[in-house]
Amino acid sequence: MSSPASNRRTFAIISHPDAGKTTLTEKLLLQGGAIHLAGEVKARGAARRARSDWMKIEQQRGISVTSSVMTFERDGITFNLLDTPGHEDFSEDTYRTLTAVDSAIMVIDAAKGIEPQTRKLFEVCRLRSVPIITFVNKVDREGRSVFETLDEVADALALDVVPMSWPVGMGGVFQGVLDFATDTISRPEGDSREFLGKREPATADNIPADIAEEIELAKAGYGDFDVEAYRHGDMTPVYFGSALKNFGVAELIDAIARYAPPPRPQPSESGTIEPTDKEVTGFIFKVQANMDPQHRDRIAFMRLVSGTFKRGMKLTPSALGKPVAIHSPILFFAQDRELADTAEPGDIIGIPNHGTLRVGDTLSENNKVRFTGLPNFAPEILRRVALKDPTKTKQLRKALDDLSEEGVIQVFYPEIGGQWIVGVVGQLQLEVLISRLEAEYKVEAVLEASPFDTARWVKGSDAALSQFADFNKSNRAKDRDGDMVFLARSAWDVSYQQERNPDLTFSATKER
Ligand code: GDP
Repeated sequence: MSSPASNRRTFAIISHPDAGKTTLTEKLLLQGGAIHLAGEVKARGAARRARSDWMKIEQQRGISVTSSVMTFERDGITFNLLDTPGHEDFSEDTYRTLTAVDSAIMVIDAAKGIEPQTRKLFEVCRLRSVPIITFVNKVDREGRSVFETLDEVADALALDVVPMSWPVGMGGVFQGVLDFATDTISRPEGDSREFLGKREPATADNIPADIAEEIELAKAGYGDFDVEAYRHGDMTPVYFGSALKNFGVAELIDAIARYAPPPRPQPSESGTIEPTDKEVTGFIFKVQANMDPQHRDRIAFMRLVSGTFKRGMKLTPSALGKPVAIHSPILFFAQDRELADTAEPGDIIGIPNHGTLRVGDTLSENNKVRFTGLPNFAPEILRRVALKDPTKTKQLRKALDDLSEEGVIQVFYPEIGGQWIVGVVGQLQLEVLISRLEAEYKVEAVLEASPFDTARWVKGSDAALSQFADFNKSNRAKDRDGDMVFLARSAWDVSYQQERNPDLTFSATKER
């Protein structure tokens, strides 16, 4: 663990809305010294939101649409926490963010257990073998029995569970949390019953008999923590706590520092790229426009995979093919922006640009590496975009290009007819689209039913493609990159075409 990459821990928090992700994020940043006042994450978020019209949707719905990066340091470890929007309609954005982390914390509500969104996000983590540390939150309130929660995690997610701590009562009889590693109990203090630093060694006298019995049963029943099994994604260590009252937060940070994996190697077309490789490489997993409406800036978030990045360095984005100098990279310390001079594998760099960088792009010094496995998700809802003012066609085209590049929507330009089609994964993306068209591009548009039901990217030899294209003009479109898309009226349509054109592939996602 002596390579420079090994002191990075890049992770995300996955949870169902309301389980306590925001509160936990705030407490992690507070402990890590990134912010100094509780409430600051929300307060600053609110100030920022007020400046941007489209983010009103966030406020109204109480969800977080924007995804950001928060970096903090403790005991020589740099933690990169990637925030993920919690609402299910933003799964595409969340999934992409999960391609850029090495591990995740799964927050569950002690009273509610595994909820639908937790399960969905967990499945994404499992697909990519992202190891999970579980945090059972809100033990200061009445919750289910600890065994019930542990067994639910084990059964629902098919994981081995190992409790790393145990609540000493919950709700009205909550007396703190016993940490197994140190055998100490963190105690509530004062009127707020928060954890303010008071720890006591556990003894036979200060743990109620029924709880001592539970713990004994648990230790016999659940086996020992095995860091390799955890890193494989087979086992999850489970911590109990209260983000609101600060219980279990320090233990959680220690667990990430100690057990969570350092930056992982990344698959590419030409083999695996190791974090220790000298060449600077990375990939863009998110693009966010107009973070500051005053500047109309666009930030591409790059996960550094290998090499030591230095400010001013020239990197070649795979889609562009020629090098660009990265003069003003940004590291995110809480919500503040700071210029980064260097960055190591695992770090996230914000790169301001005017549309040259796209989700899925590989950046590298030699322009040879192409990372794989960064999918565009299949659009499940297709809509035709109609303008209220037909003279605004140019503005609409620009807006659709921008927003598709950001990953808010996917856009398809049919070969025949002037009506453009947008594809999304969830309904809420459509609302964001309309609202941002108005706020940022002054374009009023409405969405109409589309004759198409689904879209497939078509690939094959030039000859096969052109033959296919000749016969299917009215079903053919180009995406923002000019790649051919088959717009199908039904799933049957897709299988029919597939059968008739065995030399072509019809893929639901576009891997870049
Ligand atoms: P998110 O939607 O997952 O980001 O959840 P929030 O962090 O916004 O929390 C949802 C609600 O649960 C808020 O009212 C929090 O104050 C409350 N909450 C969060 N953590 C705890 C906790 O440990 N104990 C209690 N009692 N309430 C909590």
